[in-house]
Amino acid sequence: MKQKTISVRTREILNQYGLVLKKSLGQNFLTDPYVLEKIVQAADLTNHSGVIEIGPGIGALTEKLADVAKRVVAIEIDQRLVPVLNELFKERKNIDVIHGDALKVDLHQVITNHLADVDTVHVVANLPYYVTSPILVRLLEERLPLKNIVVMIQKEVADRLTATPGTKDYGSLTILVQYFAVAKGIARVPGHVFVPRPQVDSAVVKLEIRETPAVEVADEKLFFKLVRAAFGQRRKTLLNALYAGLHSSATKQEIEQWLTSAGIDPKRRGETLNLQEFAALTEVIHSANG
Ligand code: SAM
Repeated sequence: MKQKTISVRTREILNQYGLVLKKSLGQNFLTDPYVLEKIVQAADLTNHSGVIEIGPGIGALTEKLADVAKRVVAIEIDQRLVPVLNELFKERKNIDVIHGDALKVDLHQVITNHLADVDTVHVVANLPYYVTSPILVRLLEERLPLKNIVVMIQKEVADRLTATPGTKDYGSLTILVQYFAVAKGIARVPGHVFVPRPQVDSAVVKLEIRETPAVEVADEKLFFKLVRAAFGQRRKTLLNALYAGLHSSATKQEIEQWLTSAGIDPKRRGETLNLQEFAALTEVIHSANG
């Protein structure tokens, strides 16, 4: 299908159903067949794969996913789009549409109920930009049995997922993503391929889920607490940021001792630590607290 065809078709469907798109729900629909193809290809789907799509809109990506995968479960928050999707896909037996909020729907249950007979489960989506980070955090923290996540997101968030220590984009979201997955940029996407055109630039990113987290830690909660504290006050030294952000009974001297034992200079900024260093610090504190 040519680009004009998809954008004309999008407008036709919107007119036919009298739909006015809601900015508040991040409704920027993708109309470029090349970008749709690129997203589908990046997910490495086979006819044994199951896909969870978040925010199908009027189904441009859903259709392409269902051409390749065994089954697609599409979760859409906008009630108005559900009958439209059901009508558009009434002949497609491998598409299930669920009305719900991707932040609230029980995704383990979705997999059990809809994708029990597939070999691999993938999340593929052109994400609504207003909830990109909470959705990514949820997908990772829930430890869903996923092979990969391929998402279109704002370029600025994509840069954070693939950032390296010491850069301005490196932060707690980077660590969370890199702990659970290997992040890779797939494509940059210009605004003009969306209807309506968004204010921000976009990018497609692939997260290949690791079989085991990138670093082994005895206390995962403590690991992420340290990460949050270290990035909470980026301009401070690590020692001061941890002292202010950990809300523990530890004295400054104790924290300094922990950092030195982990081989980390207390004067460094938190944003320069890599995952291995956060893991080493977690181990020292975990052992010290017995
Ligand atoms: N997949 C379509 C495409 O690529 O053209 C539409 C993508 S559009 C950027 C985002 C879609 O997510 C919209 O259809 C919107 O209604 C839906 N959406 C927004 N918030 C959501 C949420 N919390 N849960 C599920 N869907 C949501």
